[in-house]
Amino acid sequence: MTLKHLAPTKKIHSFHPPQRTLLGPGPSEINPRVMAAMSLPAIGYLDPVFVEMMEELKSLLRYVYQTGNALTFPVSGPGSVGMEYCFVNMVAPGDKVVVCRNGVFGGRMIENVERAGGTAIVVEDAWGEPCDPQKLEDALKKNPDARVVAFVHAETSTGVQSDAKTLVSVAHKHDALTIVDAVTSLAGCPVMVDDWDIDAVYSASQKCLSCTPGLSPVSFNDRVVEHVKARKDKIHSWFMDMNLLLGYWGATTRTYHHTAPTNSLYALHEALLLIKEEGLENCWARHHRNHLALKAGLEAMGLNYLVKEGARLPQMNAVHIPEAIRDREAEVRKTLLNEFNLEIGAGLGPLAGKIWRIGIMGYSCKPENVMLCLSALGSVLSDMGLPVKVGEAEAAAHSAYAQIHAQEARKKVANLK
Ligand SMILES: *Cc1c(COP(=O)(O)O)cnc(C)c1O
Repeated sequence: MTLKHLAPTKKIHSFHPPQRTLLGPGPSEINPRVMAAMSLPAIGYLDPVFVEMMEELKSLLRYVYQTGNALTFPVSGPGSVGMEYCFVNMVAPGDKVVVCRNGVFGGRMIENVERAGGTAIVVEDAWGEPCDPQKLEDALKKNPDARVVAFVHAETSTGVQSDAKTLVSVAHKHDALTIVDAVTSLAGCPVMVDDWDIDAVYSASQKCLSCTPGLSPVSFNDRVVEHVKARKDKIHSWFMDMNLLLGYWGATTRTYHHTAPTNSLYALHEALLLIKEEGLENCWARHHRNHLALKAGLEAMGLNYLVKEGARLPQMNAVHIPEAIRDREAEVRKTLLNEFNLEIGAGLGPLAGKIWRIGIMGYSCKPENVMLCLSALGSVLSDMGLPVKVGEAEAAAHSAYAQIHAQEARKKVANLK
């Protein structure tokens, strides 16, 4: 046999990516403990030691989701696969699904409904606004036969947070099951699956969980499991069929379905353990604290938030790009990347060229990153001729931190008394 000369002409070396500060819409930075876990020896996905680890992983996921749902596990694939897993199992051809859309990811939900053979009833809200429960109520009154309601809890494309608890209760009043996208919210702000009575929820490993990309934690309550089991037709995806996945991730059996991404699962186990060690409430509080400092700094630079106060996500900060440099905004991000090793996110769709998205998610969410971002962005904007005084943003962030520390100290003293 003769080899074809398909070898690349350029000499290829091992790949060594630079160390970046990741303050975009995901992926976030990864704790070295997670990277270390990932590099441990591969073992079989049916090895009893591995199976034991799977059980711990499921219980850690139940903790971060705050749920007792038995069917809580990571689907093999990015957040988009978790999304598809929910829709392909829960939506049968001909089903009506109400989708609230207020950004990019609501749009993808509509795609999923249609590809599953369903009909999407779309409830629109402006990009940057939360989903309006009243509009959902109206849509459900007009469509009493709707089986499912879907919405995005944390819209990463705009940095807005919707009131998941209220939206779910409206859906239930009209006997519809709910699918909630918690990709960006999980671990960055409260996601209370049982308290809010969410039926189906999915997330992703690389946002506030700060794990390597490629896993999508999902959770179905018993109502959803029954609903899916009651379907007369075959689920249209073999890979994502809940009934088949139950054979590997369920409570009793461990039968081969597909080769589990073992090392990625070690990584997720470690990432979740880090959250457990920190404490979920402390993890939310850390996102909130760093958000307040970042906000103080960005506002000191004259940058304004897209989302109104009260609906902002701490972990995703979307700010308007100053009018004067809108045509050069890509240059700003390029300089941040090349000179400061710092990644921030661009706007998407109608907000492209209009906003920047600064994510402080998971392991990326720390004061040193907030300070670096303010310092780097401040100096780039100042170089471009904007009236930004280098150092002012850092000073504002510093006083925000100082204020929070003083409040926390007072709380501690009050608790001691
Ligand atoms: C990132 C994201 C997704 C998609 O996740 P991938 O891992 O990129 O497939 C879905 N929904 C929201 C809200 C997201 O932020």
